[in-house]
Amino acid sequence: MKKTIAILEGDGIGPEIMREAIKVLKAVEKKYEHTFKLIYAPFGASAYFTEGSPFPEKTKQVCDEADVIIKGPVGLAVEQMNDIPQEHRPELGAILPLRKRYDTFANFRPVRLPAGLKSFSPLKEEVIGDGIDILMIRELVGGIYFGDKVEGTSTEMKFARDDCIYTEKDVRRVAIVAFEEARKRNAKLTNVHKANVLATGRFWLEIVEAVAKDYPDIPYQSVLVDNAAFQLVVNPTQFNGVMLFENMQGDILTDQAGGIIGSLGLMPSACIGPEKSYVEPAHGSAPDIAGKNMANPYSMIGSVALLFEKCLTLPEEATDIWSSIFQIFEEGFMTRDLMGPWHTKEKLINTSDFGDRVVQKIEETHQGT
Ligand code: NAD
Repeated sequence: MKKTIAILEGDGIGPEIMREAIKVLKAVEKKYEHTFKLIYAPFGASAYFTEGSPFPEKTKQVCDEADVIIKGPVGLAVEQMNDIPQEHRPELGAILPLRKRYDTFANFRPVRLPAGLKSFSPLKEEVIGDGIDILMIRELVGGIYFGDKVEGTSTEMKFARDDCIYTEKDVRRVAIVAFEEARKRNAKLTNVHKANVLATGRFWLEIVEAVAKDYPDIPYQSVLVDNAAFQLVVNPTQFNGVMLFENMQGDILTDQAGGIIGSLGLMPSACIGPEKSYVEPAHGSAPDIAGKNMANPYSMIGSVALLFEKCLTLPEEATDIWSSIFQIFEEGFMTRDLMGPWHTKEKLINTSDFGDRVVQKIEETHQGT
């Protein structure tokens, strides 16, 4: 297969975890005889400082011409954000416009913790049971993040307002994606909502339940988002299967899922649109550990696995990456974020070591084995 891939390294730990992901991409390219043309382009806070925009025109052009995009995390530490005008901050000026430009409405966030890796989780072993395997699907281009944002003064009172809007088309299409995934996995679907308070919550529930009628073979349940947050901690495995969220609730609960399995560094994602898709880690730029070669690159390497699985429909390549990563964990190696006081430091590895080991595993195994 021949593909052009745009590479947006981003900020903070972005360049260092991207470097490992590209090593892995190149190992797969060689082994499976693909040809990938990689084009690097500036994106995020660093792009604002060098180019005057977090999503410069030349980057838009590179992304438009690419078949798929691999994006690293963007953003600065909260206390540095004031160095950038509001409209040029990475979320409002880069991430949301990227998502809107390619209408990447379905965000896949796999939350996987096999039973053998229970010790990564801060939860008790009995709570993890036979392991966590939830595919979280988050609506990514609608809801409150994309509604009007107003800050103003009326009758002497300062106020701020964010509009939350969902159309039937917005909800229906992501619900169909979620039910199709549940069917592929022969799994149940849990629909998360806030129908007891919000008009958009009632609307979300109504449309998803209408779609559910077309999938009578899929076990379906709905749960209020606040209860879902609680249940995810006390009994996460009850959600093994697919969970569906609207945009903001999915943003928050998928980070919680990262905490439950042990680290945001274990959270890759794919953002799928009708014509163009991109992959990115679910976490931010982790400024607290940037440049120290200690970040967990699983989220970025796993995003490349998702690129093969969801964007290029090359499942064998994806499986090769996933099994290489999990073998490394099963051998006891881990990055610092996964290390609890109950672990010994002997098998502590750094970011580049992790990437090298994944490449070595990919090279060791033969195609089709
Ligand atoms: P963060 O997700 O960057 O980090 C939260 C915590 O998780 C930190 O302790 C960090 O060290 C740790 N962490 C995250 N990724 C890790 C990894 N791969 N390996 C090991 N540890 C990891 O959240 P934050 O600090 O609140 O945000 C930093 C910046 O990122 C902000 O500017 C924020 O707006 C931005 N952000 C960007 C995205 C995105 O690019 N899609 C998403 C979320 C936040």
